[in-house]
Amino acid sequence: MIIVSGCLVGLKCRFDGKYKVSKEFMDLMPKGIFIPVCPEQLGGLPTPRIPCWIEDGDGYDVLFKKSRVVNQKGEDLTEFFKKGAKETAKIANFLGINVAVFKEKSPSCGVNFIYHGDKLVKGCGVTTALLIKMGIHVLDEKSFIQSFTSSLY
Ligand code: SF4
Repeated sequence: MIIVSGCLVGLKCRFDGKYKVSKEFMDLMPKGIFIPVCPEQLGGLPTPRIPCWIEDGDGYDVLFKKSRVVNQKGEDLTEFFKKGAKETAKIANFLGINVAVFKEKSPSCGVNFIYHGDKLVKGCGVTTALLIKMGIHVLDEKSFIQSFTSSLY
């Protein structure tokens, strides 16, 4: 089984109350390989919610208390993001999952890129950082689809 960002498989959990579904992921859903999660909802944030970003550095810096997650109003939401990461980690532990596929550019789920305000920078989100620390292999959605498709041939 694979943990997947809920917004990739049709859950309307994004900050704007929408999803970012991809056909490839929806085609794989009936195979029963995905466990959909939304770390931000698991952390207690409402949907829709005000857009958030990691202030400096990346998800590791948030975990190590060197940075914060803030929203557009400047409110500190760091604890919600840490809680969402821990709850997602719990699900992975319960089910013995060692692979996750996450939505790129999110302050929780970003794998290679996140935002600092409106600037796209290299780095991972808070949940991604925690899962990688636990030894879970985390892929962004495009890499997953590429490797999954090539494994079929
Ligand atoms: S936290 Fe992750 S699953 Fe939830 S909306 Fe953001 S990218 Fe999607």
